[in-house]
Amino acid sequence: MSFFEFYEVDVSKILEVIKERKPRKVLIQLPEGFKRHYYEVADSIKKELEYPIDVDVDLSPSYGSCFMDLNMLANYDLVIHLGHDPYPYWQPPSNVVFIDVASRTRISEETLNKLLKFMNDSKISKVAIYTTAQHKALTRSIADKLLNAGVNVVNTLEKSVIFGCWFSDLDTVKDLIDAVIVLAGGSFHALGVGLRINARKPVISLDPYMDSFKVMNDEVYKTLKVRLSKVFEAQNAERWLIVGGVAGQYRPYIIKALTELIKSLGRRYYYASASYINKELIVNIDSKNVDAIVITSCPRIAIEDLRDYHKPILTPGEAFMALKNELNHYRFPF
Ligand code: SF4
Repeated sequence: MSFFEFYEVDVSKILEVIKERKPRKVLIQLPEGFKRHYYEVADSIKKELEYPIDVDVDLSPSYGSCFMDLNMLANYDLVIHLGHDPYPYWQPPSNVVFIDVASRTRISEETLNKLLKFMNDSKISKVAIYTTAQHKALTRSIADKLLNAGVNVVNTLEKSVIFGCWFSDLDTVKDLIDAVIVLAGGSFHALGVGLRINARKPVISLDPYMDSFKVMNDEVYKTLKVRLSKVFEAQNAERWLIVGGVAGQYRPYIIKALTELIKSLGRRYYYASASYINKELIVNIDSKNVDAIVITSCPRIAIEDLRDYHKPILTPGEAFMALKNELNHYRFPF
């Protein structure tokens, strides 16, 4: 089975960029799960070129366009970043070009009809629909079907792409809707939406790969409970370790706000920096000198990867809640 049977990549656009920029060395960046398709992508580019060039692959993790190894990028004339839209909080170096990878996966009529029935039974008539970079076209066609069935799609579809820590125009439409639909594989993005709106509206995760949908609110409530318990635990922490990232995950404005707040409360902080953060690195740097940890790089690391750690490990938003004693609203992500 070929990658191109399931995903559409605009190779002609890549060739256009290569023609314009005349690179000798090209680096391909692919999202996790797509990397083994590098060979097909590289071959499809090389076979169209009249002169030989290097088309290499970046094997480092690529969970989003926020995370790039700037030293590696500097070794290449052109970097083709496939499958993510540009990260809204960061401008990468000018040799990086973003190219869409569009999934050909579709939602069946049967699933859509079940979704419409569920919405009708639940009196959901106004929705916002969000998605990830791979399903933009499918989002438009589903929005059309919802509109034809009398459902009001409130948000701007040109702005429907969200990230795990950035939710487009959700804040401006959240009070106008009965529910949010998140069209994406898995529940990562839908959970993010649920946390952002504090589970105040139903979040429907519509998964094109599973051809199914589920309402996320139980999962969001469970996650909120865990996260709030971490915030309570960290409230009296005297010594904080801030763990920051690099490139688009280096957030100096957040680090500055946190360090100033910690200092103003007469507490202490230490700062650690890493390009990629996982449990092993946290165990290496953790000690009895630290009461609470806040990860300022990717806010989902604290939520998804390190939730079982024996000390509170917080997102920036949670750290602000704990330090400012602002507990009425779950602040996510920053
Ligand atoms: S959730 Fe994490 S990986 Fe995803 S865009 Fe945000 S910082 Fe990057």
